[in-house]
Amino acid sequence: MKNLKEIIQEAQKDKLAIGHFNISDLAGLKAVFAASQEASLALSKAGREAAVPIIIGVSEGERDFIGVKQIVALIKSLREEYNFPIFLNADHTKSLEKIKEAIEAGFDAVMFDKSDLPLEENIKQTKQAVENARNINPNILVEAELGYIRGSSTVFGESISIKEEDLTKPAEASYFIKETGINLLAVAVGNIHGIVASGNPKLNIERIRELKAISPVPLVLHGGSGIPDNEILAAIDAGISIIHINTELRLAWRQGVEKALKENPEEITPYKLLPTAIGEIKKVVEQKLKLFNRLI
Ligand SMILES: [Zn+2]
Repeated sequence: MKNLKEIIQEAQKDKLAIGHFNISDLAGLKAVFAASQEASLALSKAGREAAVPIIIGVSEGERDFIGVKQIVALIKSLREEYNFPIFLNADHTKSLEKIKEAIEAGFDAVMFDKSDLPLEENIKQTKQAVENARNINPNILVEAELGYIRGSSTVFGESISIKEEDLTKPAEASYFIKETGINLLAVAVGNIHGIVASGNPKLNIERIRELKAISPVPLVLHGGSGIPDNEILAAIDAGISIIHINTELRLAWRQGVEKALKENPEEITPYKLLPTAIGEIKKVVEQKLKLFNRLI
């Protein structure tokens, strides 16, 4: 089976994006995996390669809940049992200790997030993280963020405005990548974490194009929830290779749980209630995978 690096290179070449889906529990994992199977089937029906690779993301909070070693075992078991390209990323990791913990546990990729620091300090700490990471696993993929991505993975009632200084600057990005030796760059291009009820800010497609032109490493779009399909396709065309989705899955989980409880007020068996949440999450993931792979 191809490794994650090869899979990302292939996506870049084919102008497709790989879906990165955050999960908090087994219901989320089951939903994302089932959706990847459906999307793979749709791909093979379209006469294309029959596996839609996926990345499962767990932030520090998400992996504390599941267990660092436990999520690695779950992903590994799916990859082996189904011979399927499913990979694991330690999303938004804030400390060197947590990076070490994830890599030693067997994650395929880590994201070191020091984007709140000034450029030189971000470079210094990220460089250290890359060095430490490669010492533990030379094949690990390290992602870092430059620019300021506002918000968090929730639904906002108020609109969020993006400022010009939030955006990743091409000259800084070029310098940052060279100095740190990262494998993937998370960019701030009008994206936010979360969904704004009245509509998310528009992506700056031109900025993605400018960053793509100077970047020797693939670009990652965080905060993919709440962005209209046409903007996602334009972002992929402009050079995005990985797209993160979290908030839409959290929302689907909540709606699924509420629906199940409402329809079965006396039921107490988790495995009879949670499939409704799995079904809701799966619908979202399947639609995203088809979009990222240009099947719709
Ligand atoms: Zn993110």
